[in-house]
Amino acid sequence: MSPSSSTAPDPVGSAQPPGPLPLALAGPRRAPGRGAAKPPRHLADLPLAERRAVVAGLGQPPFRASQLSRHFFGRYTDQPEEMSDLPRAGRDELAQALLPRLLTAERELTCDAGTTRKTLWRTFDGALVESVLMRYPDRVTMCVSSQAGCGMACPFCATGQAGLTRNLSTAEIVAQVVAGARLLADGQVPGGDDPPKPARVSNVVFMGMGEPLANYASVVAAVRRMTDPVPEGMGISQRSVTVSTVGLVPAIDRLAAERLSVTLAVSLHAPDDELRDTLVPVNRRWKVAEVLDAAWDYAAATGRRVSIEYALIRDINDQAWRADALGALLAGRLAHVNLIPLNPTPGSKWTASRPSAQREFVRRLEAHGVPVTVRDTRGREIDGACGQLAASARS
Ligand code: SAH
Repeated sequence: MSPSSSTAPDPVGSAQPPGPLPLALAGPRRAPGRGAAKPPRHLADLPLAERRAVVAGLGQPPFRASQLSRHFFGRYTDQPEEMSDLPRAGRDELAQALLPRLLTAERELTCDAGTTRKTLWRTFDGALVESVLMRYPDRVTMCVSSQAGCGMACPFCATGQAGLTRNLSTAEIVAQVVAGARLLADGQVPGGDDPPKPARVSNVVFMGMGEPLANYASVVAAVRRMTDPVPEGMGISQRSVTVSTVGLVPAIDRLAAERLSVTLAVSLHAPDDELRDTLVPVNRRWKVAEVLDAAWDYAAATGRRVSIEYALIRDINDQAWRADALGALLAGRLAHVNLIPLNPTPGSKWTASRPSAQREFVRRLEAHGVPVTVRDTRGREIDGACGQLAASARS
């Protein structure tokens, strides 16, 4: 079927099986919860006090936990031979206990002259997840996965088509960011200043595979680990972290109560329940009005502007009247809209909006006084956008 031949979304469940499976979905799958082995414990799973207890349990001085943590969170290494401040005797034992290798790079793809870099990771149990590093002149954003697969079944999203394999552990999430930080520190990512200087990961977006708020405890712990200062964590600013959700209302409320200064992104994609019920099936449980109420409560609790994500899909959700409806919902709120040109997934009949429709959509939102950005499409050539891994152009 040609991409533009249909004007109605598929009811969920009847979405056509895609052609070749996206790379990230091709690995072995396992139903969640049924005897699934847990990833090995890693220091990034634990607060520093608990790392100290583990080290003490090995009969070593507890301050070694801080040394190990500085290596991992500050120097981005888990290799005992690079830890010359630790006595040779006991070094390997510490690394084995607290720094098991969690992710193995299966494939590495680059584009945008090397400034966009997508990594396909294999976990200890063979699950495959993706992360993307995007270097801009003034910042570096890491887009991370929070689950292998996803259970939310959004029909336009590649990850949504194959279901959930399992939640990632806190350390599996953090390790994606540490790996990016290491590449930067090693000078392996061009871009930025000329001549290139080593840079740090400045921003993290939970816009890779998975629904972060469906893996709540691990994601919140990962945010803390990324944002607590070294040696507790990596020292990234909370304000530079964005958690993107389909709109799990109780979890949004819970996140607001954490008093973290992270940005909330809500994947709205339609202003009306009728269409959103099909584009974001969880809308059948929490309606547009409830999701937005939770978002405004989040904005009030944190003072952070909420990002409303809206993938523009040709003739599906890009009509002028929907722009007006969206503008009316958001006018006067602490929100901005991030329009994402749809990145068609293999086998999908949907495609991105015509440029004229996109321009009109922007114009109408702006006429309601709603700030709008059109997200850049970095990494598209390497399937790095592949929808769920779309690059964020937020400022
Ligand atoms: N589950 C979370 C986070 C992962 S997806 C969420 O839904 O927010 C990150 C963003 O990419 C979401 O806004 C998602 O709706 C969007 N997205 C997914 N597939 C896409 C596609 N094919 N084209 C454009 N955006 C897509």
